[in-house]
Amino acid sequence: MRETENLIVGLGIAGINLCHQLEKQGKTFLVIDNCPDNSASLVAGGLFNPIGLKRKIKSWMVDELFEVMVPNYKELEEKLHTRLLHELPILKPISSKEELPEWQSAIDENRISPYVDTLISEPPTGLFQSNVVGSATIHHGGFVNMRSAIFEYRQYVKEKGWLIQDSFDYFAIEESSKGISYKGISADRIIFCEGRFISTNPFFSWVPLKPTKGQMLTVKVSPHLSSEMIYNQQFYMFPTTENNVFRLGATYDWNDLNEEPTEAAKEDLISKVKKALNVEMEVLEHQAAIRPNVHDRRPVLGSHPENPNLILFNGMGSKGVMLAPYFAKELMSHIYEKTPLNPEVDINRFVKKFYEKA
Ligand SMILES: Cc1cc2nc3c(=O)[nH]c(=O)nc-3n(C[C@H](O)[C@H](O)[C@H](O)COP(=O)(O)OP(=O)(O)OC[C@H]3O[C@@H](n4cnc5c(N)ncnc54)[C@H](O)[C@@H]3O)c2cc1C
Repeated sequence: MRETENLIVGLGIAGINLCHQLEKQGKTFLVIDNCPDNSASLVAGGLFNPIGLKRKIKSWMVDELFEVMVPNYKELEEKLHTRLLHELPILKPISSKEELPEWQSAIDENRISPYVDTLISEPPTGLFQSNVVGSATIHHGGFVNMRSAIFEYRQYVKEKGWLIQDSFDYFAIEESSKGISYKGISADRIIFCEGRFISTNPFFSWVPLKPTKGQMLTVKVSPHLSSEMIYNQQFYMFPTTENNVFRLGATYDWNDLNEEPTEAAKEDLISKVKKALNVEMEVLEHQAAIRPNVHDRRPVLGSHPENPNLILFNGMGSKGVMLAPYFAKELMSHIYEKTPLNPEVDINRFVKKFYEKA
């Protein structure tokens, strides 16, 4: 029997952050992942933006999330010997005169400080289309190279002998004196980080996920756009390491939940860019995947109502990059130090309404 404290299922951005916290705190784990070529984490842009652009407010818990997120990805960079974190300003074109005073009051009232401090309230020339009346620059934004994070971390745990490349078989779980046994592994607990596939997990399929399809393009842009900037206006576009090549995202669709890219989504993304920026684009790649969103737009973590050794870490929605490091840490303290979970993310918020006792 192979012994471990934690058996993790799923190695997307949620699983990686959890494994990283476990290793950091000297806890043992093995991770099971079916290592797909396509998953939400592999397709995602990986953007982090501290400001909710529509309401011109700080993103939920952003100050606390950033405090954990930035050092966390830097530690992963060191561990994996690869660059993951790209901190870049976000340029937000403003396309209506009514919006200018709204941004100005948000700045004056310190609602979006320290992330936005100035507003350019004149139509800039050249780059922007003529309908753009000003722009705001958002500091402390950026993106994480998700593909590198996933592929490099997979390799890292493989070399350590901690990765089991397989699909998890829920019916092979047995209760043991130590906690759980699974196909020759004895573990204190299993932590499920399966993203959208929670729907096939017999222990947690009752948790009300509201999956959302998202699509991304990789585009070659002309004329030259600054690669020191992210462009964000009903779309986001950020540079890759190749000259003039940007990733452009993302669409939201709650109805069509297959992973096939669609022409309609491609056209939608291109037309949004063209409304704001004076550029031509050639599409190099088009991808789609499903985000694990929750109805109340908060992560969901904690133990199964009847079996405390089965634990969930899910619901990263459209903000896995920002949410996963902080809440991986919170889940760890909950498990090892018995600290209470933030009620906004605690799985208990759904138990009464959605869970039927076995
Ligand atoms: C188009 C698009 C753009 C996005 N852009 C951004 C962005 O800019 N910024 C941002 O923060 N977020 C973004 N997101 C959201 C982000 O992708 C998610 O928040 C995040 O990837 C969810 O990570 P996860 O680890 O929970 O799930 P996943 O990435 O889906 O990972 C789950 C893993 O578990 C494996 N797995 C599941 N079940 C089993 C099983 N039974 N056995 C074995 N393995 C299993 C899966 O194969 C997968 O490897 C975007 C998403 C999409 C689709």
